[in-house]
Amino acid sequence: MLADTIAAVATPPGEGGIGIVRLSGSEAVAIASKIFQPRRGPDFAASRSHTLRLGVIVDPATGETVDEVLACIMRAPRSYTAEDVVEINCHGGPLAVARVLQLALRHGARLAEPGEFTRRAFLNGRLDLAQAEAVLDVIRARSSQGLAAAVGQLQGKLSQKITEINDLLTGVLAAIEASLDFPEEVGEVSAGELDKLRQAREEVKKLLATWEEGRLLNEGLKIAIVGRPNVGKSSLLNALLRQERAIVSQIPGTTRDTIEETLLLGGFACRLIDTAGLRETADTLESIGVARTRQAVKEADLVLMVVDLSTGILPEDERILEEVAGKTLIVVGNKVDLVGEKKTGLAAFAGLYPRVAISAREGRGLDELAQRVKEIVLGGKAVRRRGDPLLTRARHRDALEKCLEHLNAAIAAWEEGIPGDLIAIDLWAARDFLGEITGATAREDLLDRIFSDFCIGK
Ligand code: GDP
Ligand code: ZN
Repeated sequence: MLADTIAAVATPPGEGGIGIVRLSGSEAVAIASKIFQPRRGPDFAASRSHTLRLGVIVDPATGETVDEVLACIMRAPRSYTAEDVVEINCHGGPLAVARVLQLALRHGARLAEPGEFTRRAFLNGRLDLAQAEAVLDVIRARSSQGLAAAVGQLQGKLSQKITEINDLLTGVLAAIEASLDFPEEVGEVSAGELDKLRQAREEVKKLLATWEEGRLLNEGLKIAIVGRPNVGKSSLLNALLRQERAIVSQIPGTTRDTIEETLLLGGFACRLIDTAGLRETADTLESIGVARTRQAVKEADLVLMVVDLSTGILPEDERILEEVAGKTLIVVGNKVDLVGEKKTGLAAFAGLYPRVAISAREGRGLDELAQRVKEIVLGGKAVRRRGDPLLTRARHRDALEKCLEHLNAAIAAWEEGIPGDLIAIDLWAARDFLGEITGATAREDLLDRIFSDFCIGK
């Protein structure tokens, strides 16, 4: 229910410059007023909206001062949730923040569930569902391109496009229903309405065509590093990590000892898997290692096939290349530092595949490798102009595909002269699937699933 007031810590756990306790709901100001005393000026409840007040948090039960803070009221509807919101900026120690939260809970607030602030923003019409999901994507963005896409979606670019398509369908439905209800006055539905349907279908197809790029931005590009032992696969991974260390260290969940690492290559978040690592960790179960390597290759968007330029191409390299042929592939000639400008056979081996000579040891050629990756990600995907909306979530893609099915059925029926009331059924269904994206027709369980992905406090 929406009437109660929720509270949570909105900043990450641990020590920081500040820690924020956030309250939202009709009692937010009243609850905060019980525990916050402004240093000077009017009572807290009489504060101007969106204005920081300096003061202290005091436990009313003991009179003890818990922390010196800055507190701010953001009055409905001009707040994140469109309810009254109070944010209390504490000193960033975990204890101060926890005690302020505890006081808020003791004085009438309820601990927020994961994503509940954003869910309220959605339920109160501040954000639609695609925008609410974009909040999470902005938080989790791992590359500048991914961030730009998420921010665009948060600003409503995808929602706007969906609404445009929806409006086309609504117009056609209105025309069909008018002709069904008042056949005398309105007559047949004009051919122009069919054109509108076709236009809507084109727009849906255009959006669907952005999925591949959007998925890469959201999930990251999966890259498998393959090659025979000692060509330098692990060294390559480490060299790339060294180069990106500053960025990588900010990504939670990456640890030094995994064989999968996330890093930026050519501006794209990439998940690199050292397939030799797979084998090395399964020494006694060599066959499992091989099976896992095959699986990693199968799932990869891109394979880096590493060869050792100092030994030259060996039969085993040929054999591995055969195995990964058909994948999107870059041939990486490593240890160029040992061979200088000598002829290496790399070009003949790589054939039509893009190739790059590097030295993992000296860090040479890594920029060129990143450039090749970028070309491959962007290659042949010029369907989208910069800033146009794109699909980054499987949920959106699935809904649009269903929408497309119904549009195809409606258009085919129309072309065959099938009566309007049957066409209308497909159009209603198509609209429902559009509504799933923006949340207009989303069911409760879908909302639960989406918002449970969020952390508490967001
Ligand atoms: P992997 O088995 O393919 O993972 O290969 P490693 O990364 O473990 O490297 C095998 C050996 O090659 C190690 O002794 C590395 O120091 C060496 N090595 C890796 N990259 C280079 C390089 O660019 N130049 C030189 N000279 N040696 C390298
Ligand atoms: Zn290795």
